[in-house]
Amino acid sequence: MSARASSRQQEGHGESQVSAGVAVLGGGPGGYTAAFRAADLGLDTVLIDNRATLGGVCLNVGCIPSKALLHVARVAAEAETAGQLGLRFGAPEVDLDATRAFKDAVVQRLTTGLATLAEQRGVRVITGSARLRSPSVVEVDHVDGATAVSFEQCIIAVGSSAVGLPGLPRDPRVMDSTAALQLADVPGRLLVIGGGIIGLEMATVYDALGAKVTVVEQLDALMSGADSDLVAPLYRRIAQRYEGVHLSTRVESVSAQRKGLVVSLLGPDGSRSSEMFDRVLVAVGRRPNGATISAENTTSVAQSRPSRIVHFGRV
Ligand SMILES: Cc1cc2nc3c(=O)[nH]c(=O)nc-3n(C[C@H](O)[C@H](O)[C@H](O)COP(=O)(O)OP(=O)(O)OC[C@H]3O[C@@H](n4cnc5c(N)ncnc54)[C@H](O)[C@@H]3O)c2cc1C
Repeated sequence: MSARASSRQQEGHGESQVSAGVAVLGGGPGGYTAAFRAADLGLDTVLIDNRATLGGVCLNVGCIPSKALLHVARVAAEAETAGQLGLRFGAPEVDLDATRAFKDAVVQRLTTGLATLAEQRGVRVITGSARLRSPSVVEVDHVDGATAVSFEQCIIAVGSSAVGLPGLPRDPRVMDSTAALQLADVPGRLLVIGGGIIGLEMATVYDALGAKVTVVEQLDALMSGADSDLVAPLYRRIAQRYEGVHLSTRVESVSAQRKGLVVSLLGPDGSRSSEMFDRVLVAVGRRPNGATISAENTTSVAQSRPSRIVHFGRV
């Protein structure tokens, strides 16, 4: 908990007590902007997030680190094509520790900036896991114990988490996007399950770093929902570049073996094949975190006084 929040707490029955005009659950782009606005309007605001740093998924493990790494991929791609301009560079030599440090520094700069902005506005930040105890109290579990935050208004902006696939082995070589962004190593062969934007961004990064990438998508198009005229050139590029881009193909199983992850694929014509990969990234979508905060404890009041608790944010 921040010093500011603890300075206002009172000791209760084994938990500290804090009261606020507005409690904002979730410190991502939805939550921190709401908290800053509330504070700017003169409301006494508490911002609660379970991460060590503000910024939510976007700044910590989403938009920002992925864009930092895409910048690296972009530079590598430009150096590769510069030969057409008469400028020839050698094959890139990847210093993974330096690349990771670059990405981490970008994230740190932005999350630190957010903490400063919160402090400047007098927003009290509590680091811990929140659940609604009642229509006017949120309970926060944190390293120092628990805090009960009583509020007049509550804004819920707890974001989303990566969805897994049932039956996949618990193995560090099976990653979600957060693990993939950690850049533990550059796998020889990487399978990306899911041809959506997150899977394809990470495929771009790992391809640039030297991995042989395969993408599997169960629908018949990449980034379904995006304009097909925009997706077509991307498809042409990666179909040439990657080891495989398999549409209308499903992953049936993944088996963790000492030498690698053996993945069984079901193709569009019903044929089955099996391949071994060094790592697998599961990027099959995200689900809202709303179900994890005991929002049902607020139902009666949310129905009778609908303006008091507001849910918002993006998945
Ligand atoms: C790899 C990746 C790349 C992305 N790239 C882009 C991009 O380029 N552009 C773009 O627009 N979007 C991108 N996104 C999506 C973007 O991150 C989300 O749309 C955005 O973060 C949603 O903001 P939010 O505030 O609603 O939720 P979040 O950012 O998810 O923030 C919610 C916060 O609430 C916390 N929380 C959850 N439950 C609790 C609880 N019970 N108690 C306390 N805290 C809790 C979470 O830990 C999190 O810190 C990307 C996502 C990923 C995963």
